[in-house]
Amino acid sequence: MKKACCVFRIDDVHPAMDWLKFYRLKEILDKENIKPLIGVIPDNQDQSLQTDAVKNDFWALVRELQKGGWVVAQHGYQHLYVTKESGILQINERSEFAGLSYAEQEEKIEKGKNILEGHGILTDIFMAPAHAYDKNTLKALKEKGFHYVTDGYTRYPYEMMGLKFIPCMHVLCKKVKGITTCCIHSNSMNETFAQTIEDFIRKNRRFMMDYRKAMEMPCRRAILQNERYFISINKLRRSKAASVLRKYLK
Ligand SMILES: [Zn+2]
Repeated sequence: MKKACCVFRIDDVHPAMDWLKFYRLKEILDKENIKPLIGVIPDNQDQSLQTDAVKNDFWALVRELQKGGWVVAQHGYQHLYVTKESGILQINERSEFAGLSYAEQEEKIEKGKNILEGHGILTDIFMAPAHAYDKNTLKALKEKGFHYVTDGYTRYPYEMMGLKFIPCMHVLCKKVKGITTCCIHSNSMNETFAQTIEDFIRKNRRFMMDYRKAMEMPCRRAILQNERYFISINKLRRSKAASVLRKYLK
């Protein structure tokens, strides 16, 4: 097993996304035979993510990608932020889940899961919108049969509350260390960034790994990160998040 590896995750995949950009990213990954994780929103109601007309064969495409080795995660339920909670990771002050009661969260997770299953998509990995989840989210995920969460400030996978976390801290990192998840929102990707991704892959080809393989990497005691480059959070909040996570991992 490689000590350091790099995987890709694509957020906000749904029937009315920007298809031109998604296919541009898919072309880049296919060229290098990299199989990413995609976060599929079961019932997207987030207007800010609606770019194109609904793609009628969307679910057939997701099934096809899954069959081809791409990993599909349930990305929340409707992608609507209903609280201002940032949950365990403290990245964004908005959430579809964190701050809600266990019953409310369980219901949303179940509704989303039922939609995916209705389209023939089975998955046991969860991607929380805005990286925001709390203890109730994790309890409900476990109850609903999930085994994995894509998120966390560590170098290697770790276990918490009966779930395995595959860390995700970067958009594109400077140096691949441990398991590095590159978190890409294809909807907002422009051609310059597409080329940056291509260059990044070329430079780090030896680290590239399919997401499914990374999920098999053994858990380690969490090594908390103090890297400079987690783009969406400032220093203060990152150290706060690290201390919160340290508390949870006790
Ligand atoms: Zn999202």
